[in-house]
Amino acid sequence: MANIGNEVLELLKEEISEKEYNRYIKQLTFLNEESSAHEVTFLAPNALVASWIKRKYSETISHLFEIKTSTSPSVNINLSKKATNTTKQSNVTKTANSAHSLLNPSYTFKNFVDGRSNQFAYATAKSVSEKPGIAYNPLFIYGGVGLGKTHLMQAVGNVLQAKGKSVIYTSVEQFLNDFIRHVKNSSMERFKEKYRKCDVLLIDDIQFLNNKPQIQEEFFHTFEELRAASSQIIITSDKHPKQIAGLEERLKSRFEHGLVADIQPPELETKIAIIDKKCEINRIRLDKEVVNYVATIIENNVREIEGILSKLHAYSQLMHQPITLEFTKNVMKDQLQEKRENINIDMIIKLVSKELNVKPSEIKSKNRSRNIVYARRIAIYLARDLTPNSMPQLAQYFGMKDHTAVSHTMKKIQDLLKNDEDFKVKIEELKVKVQNYSD
Ligand code: ADP
Ligand code: MG
Repeated sequence: MANIGNEVLELLKEEISEKEYNRYIKQLTFLNEESSAHEVTFLAPNALVASWIKRKYSETISHLFEIKTSTSPSVNINLSKKATNTTKQSNVTKTANSAHSLLNPSYTFKNFVDGRSNQFAYATAKSVSEKPGIAYNPLFIYGGVGLGKTHLMQAVGNVLQAKGKSVIYTSVEQFLNDFIRHVKNSSMERFKEKYRKCDVLLIDDIQFLNNKPQIQEEFFHTFEELRAASSQIIITSDKHPKQIAGLEERLKSRFEHGLVADIQPPELETKIAIIDKKCEINRIRLDKEVVNYVATIIENNVREIEGILSKLHAYSQLMHQPITLEFTKNVMKDQLQEKRENINIDMIIKLVSKELNVKPSEIKSKNRSRNIVYARRIAIYLARDLTPNSMPQLAQYFGMKDHTAVSHTMKKIQDLLKNDEDFKVKIEELKVKVQNYSD
């Protein structure tokens, strides 16, 4: 395995933002001698980086190894000696992967909190785990980022795998890469064997099939054959099948044919229950007031809860401080700041123009038509609120005379916010979208 680890990290570089790569991945060292085709080991300099990488990237790293070597190893992120001396954290964080699937063993029903926001998806997933291939086939789960779609789908996978069923979990990307590799190696039989003969196929984030006709065709045949054999199919997506642009009608209609269940952002009580659950799993002790605080600060993304808990835990260990409310507020301040630094005006313009159906170039133009002025004002307001740009900077950016024009715009929007409840909700939604926006 001559430096295959570094090659994989190079591939990973293309998958994630430069910032993330430099901040986390760059700190990894590949341990060639301790790695094999089935298990690879990297060293991280501290517990924070280790747990972060494990959570966020170990699945991807494993996938990338599979692309390079055709087997997907389990990925260990160990702490380097220096780090182990300074923290008492367990020195091995490990994701187990069986040879056939990349299911995360902690994605179980037991570890999933059901609440009003996800009850329907939860209940249907549960019944699919009891009666696969019969109850709802396919089961199509959709909802926003980090709301538990992958968790729920894999919970079904874990139940069925434990009952001896062959379960394949894949992303569209992996399906595509596999397909390309097998076409190149003239080994399509193996591809078909893998995807068409399994008992359960879990395919994650199907929206990425859009505008890829050849792979849609292949997936269509996979789907048909699985359905004909009463094998269970579970699909997730960020949108309802109808809403996925660039997807063949025959796929849309088949996706809708089974059961379509959505997951909504969690309400406050569910967020609190999820935090309690995560604390229990990770043996972190938090006071009620800290839990409530974290729950109110986190907007919609449950994944962020985990990020914050692991940060809190790591910091408190590194700094030998208990997790008080004060301490939490400080840690969260950094987190919010970091989020802000990632937002720029271009993103805001792209998003606002998409949401309000105008062109990005129109937002920056001097066009005075009503809907464009409206979109422009909102973009300026969000830019002022969510980025560190000053009013003169914004004036320059949006081609306005000077900062008084920006200030005038801010006033208009603030008046609307005060008097129009619907508008306020709309702006809040846009803010969340900007914060979760990625290209
Ligand atoms: P998605 O696939 O919808 O983007 P994930 O399934 O990856 O989201 O969930 C993100 C993280 O949040 C996972 O670690 C998952 O365990 C956790 N999570 C999401 N919803 C819940 C829930 N209802 N109960 C417990 N954990 C959850
Ligand atoms: Mg997911």
